[in-house]
Amino acid sequence: MCGIVGYIGPREAYPIIIEGLKRLEYRGYDSAGIALFDGKDLKVCKTKGKVVDLENKLLNEISNSGSIGIGHTRWATHGVPNDVNSHPHHSNSGNLVIIHNGIIENYDSLKKELSSRGYTFKSDTDTEVLVNLIEDVKSKENVKLGKAVQIALNQVIGAYAIAVFDKTQPNEIIIARLGSPLAIGVGKDEFFIASDASPFIEYTKNAIYLEDEEMAIIRLNKDIKVRKIKDDSLVDPYVQELQINLEQIEKGGFKHFMLKEIYEQPKAINDTYRGRLLREDAIIKMSGVEDNMKKFLAADRIIIVACGTSWHAGLVAEYIFEDLARIPVEVEYASEFRYRNPIITEKDVIIAISQSGETADTLAAIKLAKSKGAFVFGVCNVVGSSIARETDAGAYTHAGPEIGVASTKAFTTQITVLTLIALRLARAKGTISSSDFRHHLLELEMIPKKVEKALESDAHIKKIADIYKDSRNCLYLGRGYNFPVALEGALKLKEISYIHAEGYPAAEMKHGPIALIDENMPIVVIATKKGHYEKVVSNIQEIKARKGKIIGIVTEGDVDVRELADHVIEVPETLEALSPLLTTIPLQLLSYHIAVSLGKNVDQPRNLAKSVTVE
Ligand code: GLU
Repeated sequence: MCGIVGYIGPREAYPIIIEGLKRLEYRGYDSAGIALFDGKDLKVCKTKGKVVDLENKLLNEISNSGSIGIGHTRWATHGVPNDVNSHPHHSNSGNLVIIHNGIIENYDSLKKELSSRGYTFKSDTDTEVLVNLIEDVKSKENVKLGKAVQIALNQVIGAYAIAVFDKTQPNEIIIARLGSPLAIGVGKDEFFIASDASPFIEYTKNAIYLEDEEMAIIRLNKDIKVRKIKDDSLVDPYVQELQINLEQIEKGGFKHFMLKEIYEQPKAINDTYRGRLLREDAIIKMSGVEDNMKKFLAADRIIIVACGTSWHAGLVAEYIFEDLARIPVEVEYASEFRYRNPIITEKDVIIAISQSGETADTLAAIKLAKSKGAFVFGVCNVVGSSIARETDAGAYTHAGPEIGVASTKAFTTQITVLTLIALRLARAKGTISSSDFRHHLLELEMIPKKVEKALESDAHIKKIADIYKDSRNCLYLGRGYNFPVALEGALKLKEISYIHAEGYPAAEMKHGPIALIDENMPIVVIATKKGHYEKVVSNIQEIKARKGKIIGIVTEGDVDVRELADHVIEVPETLEALSPLLTTIPLQLLSYHIAVSLGKNVDQPRNLAKSVTVE
């Protein structure tokens, strides 16, 4: 899930690539590297660690970096993160360099074949095999780099976004994609290459998103040539105008992206329903749903496929769809779904959820469902992403770029979109009364203000975080709509503080987790007024009897839980179906403050990456 950057044009390449890599570090950050061509020599530098380590390593070494280069920030799949395994990788002759995002699945057999013909390998990566395969083809077939890349890729099984440079043909960079994203920024007499548009947003707003199985030859002062890798046919590339700006991808005064994104939720939720929720007319308008209403209404069931936090949003949606629209829902981990020969029919509607729209397992699940004739609807944040393109229809979350690896505003905006869909379908099916529908619209419209209110507990939550930061374990309990929120709260804590945490349905606690409870165990219980309040209060009593430390997430003005709990964090009152949009806020802040006080890197937690483009 690495990040790729490249530049060819009149400017100095080095600063563009380094700054670009920093913006792509969310995709991987265990090592970084760069290859620069100064007109004569090809300089390659790579290191284990972050982009800033690469920068330090290069300090004093870069005088004239030249105006062609490629850079990489890695999330290792093959070979430990170390200097040697970092990208770029050289071919044996030293002429070619490659950067790669993805996995070459048949690298082992290709490596054996190349080794038998004298090729040697310094690293353990699949990537080094690919660059030597390209070199091998180039010399055997006596073809130019572009052709060699194309022939080599036709022998490869797996996923890739690559950029290849040949110092014997130094006026071009060859790029290709299958399964991993790749964008080209088209400037005046210059081109930028990147895994997403953020590295070149201040230079150009014109971008071409390469499609799967396409490659491009990017040549100085020439038009871009895009071709199909399989049959060499020429493709007319679509240049689109980007809507994001630089400010949206910077920290804006916050210490971390994660905190900034937590605080952006009122706006993000508002942006997500704006233009779709028309309260005065008592309607919800979403073209992707309207245009396919027949399919939704005829559906035997909805299958939601997703991974990680998006899977939790899917679980919340299961409650909403079944409760309000009375449509049976199954929520599946995309990685399990795609491999277990699931029963899918033409009467199923699949909803695929992914912030990045690039999640490899979710994409594969989509392809599987489409092959069985199901209608597939995508919910993602990144405009123009692979999932947005692969699905039959969809709805964007409009959360704005999410950089922090631990997802926050993506989760609440996904729930917002899914709530809008459920309400729209409920109205169309007549499973919700008109007054109830209006009430939901009104309450949904008030959510941003209520999220702002929930955020006011920040300082109080920080104090609680200081008390429990050294805990080894933590339990999160919730019932009904707030059970998935408990799962999400536990995931947030694990991801960024590395404290072991489990989310459970509160009543299920008696079937195991209760054995863990003693005076050292903090237990976060979501106990808002609507939604089995009395039952949750009984669960709290059970924890109390075993001396567990209780942090209650309660409705403003709560009395009962306050008496029992060690701490309470209040959230405003709302409808039960909308409560996850509020109860999740204190859990995000709690994880954030615990991780910060433990000195962890909250925006780039170890071993993780933002968009999981490998399976
Ligand atoms: N497979 C390559 C490596 O391990 C690229 C990894 C990736 O894209 O995540 O270096």
